[in-house]
Amino acid sequence: MNAAAARLIALVEKYGAHNYHPLPVVIARAKGPFVWDAQGRKYFDFLSAYSAINQGHNHPKIVAAAKKQLGKVALTSRAFHHELLGPFLELLCRISGKERALPMNSGAEAVETAIKAMRLWGYRRKGVPENKAEIIVCAGNFHGRTTTIVGFSSDRLSTENFGPATPGFRAIPYGDASALERAIRPETVGFLFEPIQGEAGVIIPPEGWLAAARAICSENRVLMCADEIQTGLGRTGKMFACEHESVIPDLYILGKALSGGLYPISAVCADDEILGLFTPGTHGSTFGGSPMACAIGMAALKVIVDERLPQKAAQTGAYLKGLFDTLEHPLLKEVRGRGLMLALEFKTRVRPLVERLLALGLLAKDTHENTIRLAPPLTLTRAQAKAAFLLVKKAVAAFPA
Ligand SMILES: *Cc1c(COP(=O)(O)O)cnc(C)c1O
Repeated sequence: MNAAAARLIALVEKYGAHNYHPLPVVIARAKGPFVWDAQGRKYFDFLSAYSAINQGHNHPKIVAAAKKQLGKVALTSRAFHHELLGPFLELLCRISGKERALPMNSGAEAVETAIKAMRLWGYRRKGVPENKAEIIVCAGNFHGRTTTIVGFSSDRLSTENFGPATPGFRAIPYGDASALERAIRPETVGFLFEPIQGEAGVIIPPEGWLAAARAICSENRVLMCADEIQTGLGRTGKMFACEHESVIPDLYILGKALSGGLYPISAVCADDEILGLFTPGTHGSTFGGSPMACAIGMAALKVIVDERLPQKAAQTGAYLKGLFDTLEHPLLKEVRGRGLMLALEFKTRVRPLVERLLALGLLAKDTHENTIRLAPPLTLTRAQAKAAFLLVKKAVAAFPA
């Protein structure tokens, strides 16, 4: 790292809150699966901003859509109509198969929106007594950083010192269908889950769990709410990760790749019997569904569909997983993943491996100490996948046993 980069990092250290521990690289530009630092050093981006960059950095069609809208009208607020909201909602509904969509900005805001929607449905449709609604969540979950959401996190760093927790949530073990069945009470309005737990270290639930959860929710009149902010929009080799078990949840929560990284855009998609219950004044967002967001969101969704990114993720993911499966290291515990949501779990801390990969020209991030997540843009070619694998192989070979 040169002096200019060190100065920029020192500025962040001095003036920023220390709520992140970034790798010592300062990115200056990006394209496709690559980023460059100011010295022109090129890196594979194998984090993709936690799956916000499924379409690759600066996808030309999304950039063009943003440029076309920029300077025209950026924000109206929802107090007035604008030309792009209807077409964006229609496209969201076509892709999700749901009757309505509610646009927000960050993923956490969409999760909050889904929580409100499930409670609203519980009071208005299921007849749950006022203030008694309960939502079942999973241990090891990651749904965002608001006070309500961290209140039902099982990660000590997320919750400790940030209480009191919002009541109305109960955690069960992830991937355990009978625990879900046992946890349901008359006041239970929803079950909020990730089809694969990303932040927990790419945890894939047992086969059949999603389908079993679907059946249990339907039998007990509990809304099944899939947080597909990270797993959705092609990442796991399907448009939605729930499709791996042909499951259709009652609510989809989307974010991240919904903008291809150009803007914070999130949404909840559900049928009229749920989202139709909101009335003017009961929910909102100044920026949610803005003209900029709709222009970018539509372009981002079209790229996923037109370039068949879910299929690409399935193919490139299977190829890359096959390569990773050939890695040999005494401390390598497991290679796992679905589509291009891959992870290598070791029996030791992987931060030194992550730093070695940085030096070799590949950016990836450790999650939960012992796991390295590998999640490149879905546009990655086979040749690029092979080249990136060789870097990982080199770093693993040099990793002390
Ligand atoms: C990233 C993420 C969120 C939160 O999204 P933000 O845009 O950071 O608020 C919620 N759920 C899952 C599964 C995520 O991966």
